[in-house]
Parts: sequence; structure tokens; C-alpha cells
Amino acid sequence: MKVFISVDMEGISGLVRWADVATQGIDFQLNRSLMTADANAAIEGAFDAGATQVIVEENHGVEELCVLMMEEIDPRVEVIRGAGRPGATTAAGLDESVGVVLLVGHHARAGSFPGVMAHTISYGWFKLVKLHGEPIGEPDFFAIRAGELGVPVGMVSGDHVVAEQVREICPWAETVEVKHAYAKQSAKCIPPARARPLIREGAMRAVTRALAGELQTYTSVSAPYEFEVTLTKPMTGTMNENITTQDGFEILAENLIRVTAPNMDLGFRRVAYIGYADQAGVTRY
Ligand SMILES: [Zn+2]
Repeated sequence: MKVFISVDMEGISGLVRWADVATQGIDFQLNRSLMTADANAAIEGAFDAGATQVIVEENHGVEELCVLMMEEIDPRVEVIRGAGRPGATTAAGLDESVGVVLLVGHHARAGSFPGVMAHTISYGWFKLVKLHGEPIGEPDFFAIRAGELGVPVGMVSGDHVVAEQVREICPWAETVEVKHAYAKQSAKCIPPARARPLIREGAMRAVTRALAGELQTYTSVSAPYEFEVTLTKPMTGTMNENITTQDGFEILAENLIRVTAPNMDLGFRRVAYIGYADQAGVTRY
């Protein structure tokens, strides 16, 4: 079975604040290793449970999505990194051939409180992202896209809030709570050395259950998709100009954009595009 692992940074064990996951943070290089170690724990669990191939895809949007330590990652995997990938944003490696999706180091959706570094896609620009009127987070995008492809989400690791949010949409998924969120930048953390065996065991159970056909695919939301993205501040002239030239976007107010998409490949990319549309001439997504 081929296993797809999406690795983000906000839900990595031990990390609680923005400076932990930003390039200029004093611990950033160390934290890259912690991120890689949590990923390795999931990889090990997946292979131990019988995975034949593991694709790891970077999901953390700093340094053009190149954050994992390539020297330290389990050599049995392939890693998708860098910006400008084909297909749904940060899910280029997710296709029908995947047997199960594991989300490592993921975080709660925008608008959550508490919720360690809770956001949906863009910290800077997105106050709230709704799909068909309901707030959604990054795990929703993965669950829906995977569901379109007939692939289940089998595990998430992160704080207790993202765990709850994933259980709401995918009650069959293993949830590994590596920290208990107190606020947006505070949590009671399990030290990484103790969190990793939990992640490994969660991944092992998820892959074992996927192989046994015990996991379901998420199909509760169906296309066409209609999103509403509330911005943290009024859009700039450049953003307005870029968005207006694209199909599938409608500006409802200076801080509110409606996005429509026939599938979650395009939906994911279109919503993500708004987060970087404030650059002159950037009209690709
Ligand atoms: Zn991230």
C-alpha cells in the first residue's frame, strides 16, 4: 500500500509559537529537525504496518515549502517539496493510487480558540475560510480532496483542537494529541521523545486499518464547492486586480471573496491563490 504523509509544522511536538515555525525564529533550525523526527515516526509506523511506498509532502509555507531536513528524513521515502507543484496545493502526491493519507504536525482551523497557531492556509491574510457556510481548516481540504479520489484520511497528529476537528469529519481517523492547546501560542506539550512513539503507533494503526479496509472516505461535502474567504484586512489594489482577472472568484466586499470550484483540486488551489495574490503579475495558481 502506498501511503501519503502531509507534514506541516505548527502541530509538531514541542512547538507552540509563530517564531518556532518562522525562518527568523531562534530555534528554527532545531525545529526543522523536530519536524523531520515527527515525520520519521509516522514513516516508521507506516512501513512497520506494511506500507510498500511512502510519499511525504511538505505543507509548511515558509522557505518555499522546503523545511524538512533532507539529511535526516527516512531514506525509504520520496519527498515532494518546493513551490509551483502541479495539482491541488500541497497535495501533488495525492492521487488514486494512494491507500491512506496521514497528516503529521497539522493545526486547527482559522477562527479556533484555543488552537496552537490556528489558521487556514494563510496566516497573514485569512481570518476565516468557509465552505458551504461552515468554517474549514486544512485537514478539511485534504479529507475532501482525498475523498474525491476514494482515499481515506487515517491519522492526524497535532494539538487536541485539530484532533477534535478531524474526529468531527473523519471519526474513523487515528488522532495523536502531542500538545494540549491553551491559547494560540501556548500549550501543554508532551516532549518530542515521548510524542514520537505515539505518532509511530498512530500511523501503524492507521495503515493496519487501511489495509483491512476499515477506514472510510470522506464524502459528506460534494462539488461544486462554494467558499467564502474573509480577509484579515482590506485587499490591496494589486490583489483586487489579480483576482478580478481569474475565473471562479467574486469580490463580495473589500475583505470578503467568494470562490467556486468544480473539484477540490481547483478549490484548494484557488483558495490558496488568494493568500499570495498580493504580488503584481502573479496570476497563476
Ligand atoms: Zn504550516
